Amino acid sequence: MILRIDKLQIELPMPKEADPDAAAVVQELLGGRFGEMSTLMNYTFQSFNFRGKKELKPFYDLIANIGAEEYGHVELVAATVNALLNGASRKEDPSETPLAPGLKARNTHHFIVTGQGALVANSMNTPWQGDYVFNSGDLVLDLLHNFFLECGARLHKIRVYEMTSNPVAREMIGYLLVRGGVHATAYAKALEILTGVNVTKMLPIPKIENSRFPEARKYEEAGQHRKLYRFSLEDYRDIVRIWKGTHPQDGQPLEVVDGTPPGGPQLDLDEAPEASIPGFAPEELHEIAQRLLKEL
Ligand code: MN
Ligand code: MN
Repeated sequence: MILRIDKLQIELPMPKEADPDAAAVVQELLGGRFGEMSTLMNYTFQSFNFRGKKELKPFYDLIANIGAEEYGHVELVAATVNALLNGASRKEDPSETPLAPGLKARNTHHFIVTGQGALVANSMNTPWQGDYVFNSGDLVLDLLHNFFLECGARLHKIRVYEMTSNPVAREMIGYLLVRGGVHATAYAKALEILTGVNVTKMLPIPKIENSRFPEARKYEEAGQHRKLYRFSLEDYRDIVRIWKGTHPQDGQPLEVVDGTPPGGPQLDLDEAPEASIPGFAPEELHEIAQRLLKEL
């Protein structure tokens, strides 16, 4: 089962103005081959299909637990896309051209197909695909794939960071660089336990340290790179058998945290009546809220 918490994993700042082209490139981190949809679905399906759960419980717990964290990453990247699209249309009469900003935007589907919201697609608007999921059933091969997936995801995050200076996009990327670093290290340690090969020596891939980015450095200084959260009320306790010892880069002790990060509120984004988002005029929304309150 999945238990859901109506918060984002971090406090995301609200942008001062819309930035549809930043929203378009950030889509790669959501629905790209190395995006959060891919990490979520890879680890989730690997956990569904896992054989030898009793004997190999720490490895099952690790993959299932990181899968749960990835769900929140999909949510965080989607929130970033939505924030970057907030106020993207003009406050004009529908008979004018309130959606003209979409005419030259990189992703016209943000204006025509969704209500100025995230798509399950990459930065070139190719839909996320089920064959991005690799699950051979061979545990070492699947863990090796997951290590590769985290490193590829890291490369794409860094490149998107280098494409946009938008502070909302960079805050999200800074945090996810640090969390991805935890996952890459965790899979490397799992591989070391199974094979004896010290995979952590390959990190970081690419060789640009997280500390080069102020938005990531802040989370490392808060110790986030040492913490593996246990995203469950009672389960996945055996992750402590893998997430232990010291961090391969700074030698600080690794720590399993029981529960989720403190997180931040969901964003409250503007309605856009000129584009029928969400399809009610402000006075109608007020009337609906009043009616629901009375029925309580
Ligand atoms: Mn992630
Ligand atoms: Mn990850």
